[in-house]
Amino acid sequence: MDSKKIIIVGQGVSGTLFSWFCAQHNLDFIIIDNALTNSPSKTAAGLINPVTGRRVVTVWMDDIILPFAEKTYKEIGAQLGIEAISKMNIVDFFPNPFMKESFLKKMSLQAPYISLAKDEPYLNEYFNYEFGTGIIEPAYIVHLQQLLPAWRKHLLSENKFIEQSFNFNRLQVSDHSVQYENIVADLVVFCDGVEGSENPYFHLLPFALNKGEAIIIEAPELPVGHIYKKSMTLAPFGEPGIFWAGTNYIWEFDDHLPTEAFRKSTEQNLNSWLKVPYKILDHKAAVRPATVERRPFVGLHPLYKNVGILNGMGTKGCSLAPYFASQLVQHIVHQQPLEKEADIARHARILSRPQA
Ligand SMILES: Cc1cc2nc3c(=O)[nH]c(=O)nc-3n(C[C@H](O)[C@H](O)[C@H](O)COP(=O)(O)OP(=O)(O)OC[C@H]3O[C@@H](n4cnc5c(N)ncnc54)[C@H](O)[C@@H]3O)c2cc1C
Repeated sequence: MDSKKIIIVGQGVSGTLFSWFCAQHNLDFIIIDNALTNSPSKTAAGLINPVTGRRVVTVWMDDIILPFAEKTYKEIGAQLGIEAISKMNIVDFFPNPFMKESFLKKMSLQAPYISLAKDEPYLNEYFNYEFGTGIIEPAYIVHLQQLLPAWRKHLLSENKFIEQSFNFNRLQVSDHSVQYENIVADLVVFCDGVEGSENPYFHLLPFALNKGEAIIIEAPELPVGHIYKKSMTLAPFGEPGIFWAGTNYIWEFDDHLPTEAFRKSTEQNLNSWLKVPYKILDHKAAVRPATVERRPFVGLHPLYKNVGILNGMGTKGCSLAPYFASQLVQHIVHQQPLEKEADIARHARILSRPQA
């Protein structure tokens, strides 16, 4: 079993984590990635937030997925000699009395991860706010800007990485093997993110793509070691003093480009929120590979058992990718069952439809 060879398409956070677990299981693999500069993995803040939405709901499978993600990124970081993940808290500035009320109500129900801020006054030096702050912890930042290139460099040194666009016309899938140009393997696994919605094997899956943007700012006076949230998120991004500010959710879009409207509204929000000076360094946009049911797509194609997928990470690639990458490898190597809500077997009928 362990001698399986896998072609992996895509090295975003999904392909990175999937290939990591392949390496842990001594599976032979090669990644093909076309190094898109505006992929969501290169645009994301890398935030892992244990709660979500206006009603501060605990995220899906938090008790399993979050500790698993922390452990995995630490292990990858240790191997690569980088800090792949940092644990920190989120200072949640209530934007209005209703959000405060909602937070307090959750607290009164003993909801995990949330509390009221204790030493709030110092925040006054840096921020304008009227309705107090809550604390969400632990939260994490995955340092994708360091992690993805470091893993890629490692794979290049092991001849396991090809920079090229995968061309489906050159893929041959037979019952027991796959061949891409001169590479013969047992399986091909697509971690192709938003391109998955046009992948001939998986395009029928219910993707619900949405575009998101972020502005990168330099704000050297803002205290580091925290993530700040008030209608938008300000997260440490790579170097000290650099912050990621975002985001939005655009469901109808004609391109993957940044919009003037987002830049203007983000600048307005920052001007009224921050008391310290800042400078805009960059404006990014990317399309999220989200799904209608807000659950990932993991597993092997019902008709082509040697064609797999790890995709549909939506807004939560950093937390979901480690656990589901590991599950998919366990499934391939030991036939262990996949989490039902994530397993693409739930879409077997759609995927088995005859195509024109
Ligand atoms: C503005 C914004 C903010 C976000 N913030 C967060 C956050 O804070 N925390 C979080 O967890 N998630 C966040 N997300 C979501 C997160 O970015 C995604 O869930 C995640 O990046 C998806 O990763 P992926 O590897 O599945 O896909 P991708 O990042 O799209 O990676 C796919 C890779 O495959 C390659 N590829 C595709 N097709 C081909 C082909 N034919 N040939 C060769 N290579 C190919 C691409 O170049 C790319 O490298 C954010 C997204 C956006 C847009």
